[in-house]
Amino acid sequence: ACPTGTGSGTTIFTEVTALAQRTGAVNLGQGFPDTDGPPAMLEAARTAIAAGANQYPPLAGLPELREAIVTQRALRYGTHYDVDTEVLVTTGATEALAAALLAHCAPDDEVIVFEPYYDSYAASIALAGGRRRVVPMRPDATGRFGFDPDDLSAAVSHRSRVLLLNSPHNPTGTVFDAEELAAIADCCRRNDLVAVTDEVYEYLTYDGAVHTPLATLPGMRERTLSISSAGKTFSATGWKVGWVCGPAHLVEPVRRVKQYLTFASGTAFQVAVAQALGTQQPWVRAQAARLQTNRDRLRASLVATGLTPYVCQGTYFLQADIRALGTADGIRFCRELPHRAGVAAIPSAVFYDDPADGLPIVRFVFCKKPEVLDEAARRLAGLT
Ligand code: PMP
Ligand code: GLN
Repeated sequence: ACPTGTGSGTTIFTEVTALAQRTGAVNLGQGFPDTDGPPAMLEAARTAIAAGANQYPPLAGLPELREAIVTQRALRYGTHYDVDTEVLVTTGATEALAAALLAHCAPDDEVIVFEPYYDSYAASIALAGGRRRVVPMRPDATGRFGFDPDDLSAAVSHRSRVLLLNSPHNPTGTVFDAEELAAIADCCRRNDLVAVTDEVYEYLTYDGAVHTPLATLPGMRERTLSISSAGKTFSATGWKVGWVCGPAHLVEPVRRVKQYLTFASGTAFQVAVAQALGTQQPWVRAQAARLQTNRDRLRASLVATGLTPYVCQGTYFLQADIRALGTADGIRFCRELPHRAGVAAIPSAVFYDDPADGLPIVRFVFCKKPEVLDEAARRLAGLT
């Protein structure tokens, strides 16, 4: 048996995308954009292939990409990493997360995660033989999901080893603020935890929300592995170019695990991403602005349908409560929605230890063309 700790053996994203394809539904389930990233980046990959960048890159990643990642983090966040010992290119953020947990979580160690949590976390913790301890996130009066510091303290024990933080957060759309980050950093320092931060949506923030890496807080650089990827930033989820930055003593064990997971991947894509990190910041800013408009468009149509959207400060996900439609079972709702309305979405219950805790919440993506979101809106209007 596969000890991934997940239920059906198939990820919810694969399941919902297959259902959308079978039924011809507009797929607002799995998070991937329906338009390509910057044209110059796509051209750089084609050129790299034509120029022969088709064999293994170095295990740690192409030097030019490692250089670009380090430069990007220094310019954007003021954090400095050594190109040779403190950055590792991975096969997407997914591999970085798995390798980080396999490297730093021993059997029976506890890993703190904020709930709801992205599906691969539970699987990677289980593969490492670790135990998951969740800190619940709940909506406040404005509809923004946050956590209670007392719940964080309560989740920590002498067995705690790793704290996993995803900000901007999938699926809630929360961008953790200064006060929340300070409480998390304090917890990590006091309990000597390794922080693993999943920052794949680092550029996708709205209404002036600012993403601050946990590693920038006092005393945190030396205990944090910061993970990101090109998939969301450059609308290239299929390229699977990710990376992890951190102090050498934390990165080295990740490198040892990574060499037997994939060794390396995607030479030509690495060339193109290196170039994009250096030259495509204006494209990324414009993309974030387009996504903010899309979010507002989707929110308006969910409201018109009778759903109650939560606050979304970042990512490309918008959650909504379905209870006003007369049901509280999001799993059943999402199973029926493609047939009833020709739209597919993800039941947020799958992101909880106990599905009952997220049952009336459904997650929709808005990284789709405006006309696709409008078509979804027309279809959803038929629900009421
Ligand atoms: N973390 C989060 C929070 C995500 O939403 C995703 C995927 N979409 C990933 C990690 C995986 O990133 P990648 O595709 O780079 O492996
Ligand atoms: N991260 C994407 C989401 O949350 C899905 C990635 C996947 O299919 N594994 O929708």
